[in-house]
Amino acid sequence: MIKKITVPNQILEHACPVCGDDMLLHKYVHYFKLFGKPLFPLKVIEEFYKCEVCKSSYNTYIKELIKLDDEKKQLLFEEAGKLYAKALIAAMTYMAVIDGHLDEKEQQTLHAIIGKYSNIADELIDIMDRIKNQGNKDGFVYKLLKKVHQDLSIDSVLALLSEAVKMLMADGKMDDNELKLLDKFILEAGLPKEFYSLLISKVKKL
Ligand SMILES: [Zn+2]
Repeated sequence: MIKKITVPNQILEHACPVCGDDMLLHKYVHYFKLFGKPLFPLKVIEEFYKCEVCKSSYNTYIKELIKLDDEKKQLLFEEAGKLYAKALIAAMTYMAVIDGHLDEKEQQTLHAIIGKYSNIADELIDIMDRIKNQGNKDGFVYKLLKKVHQDLSIDSVLALLSEAVKMLMADGKMDDNELKLLDKFILEAGLPKEFYSLLISKVKKL
């Protein structure tokens, strides 16, 4: 089983690019499980820094990034924010159309998200239209998710997918196609397969 652990005494003060709060080092660890309980750690899967206030998370390279001058730093983090929004819209649209059509409620949900990122609304609408017309041609959605994993963090992929699922499930349950797609998203983003059950339990708690 996989657990998220906070590493003690590893803090980047005022480092969060989104809200400026402190970031703490976390890691996902694979545990040996017995009778449903984690017994001992087998291996560390990945480490990342996460802001406890706004929940943004970045790979450990953020330690180096925060040393850059403000202008460069701001540019990089803006790009990261845009990437998250693009991947979120892509994953959500693809999940919504997997059953063959985009219903009214799903359209509204997607537009509400685009409204949150008004500075790149045009780009997001293009992505939505592309997926409506071409689906996941050339692995477009998978590539974006993989990039979120690489450029942001493993935890960002998980946050993104649970956000997508939460919004699309607002009206009830997920069907088999959607669950299969979620599984595929996890693998294509480069996460270990065990993250699927982690995601499902995360979504159930929302
Ligand atoms: Zn923050």
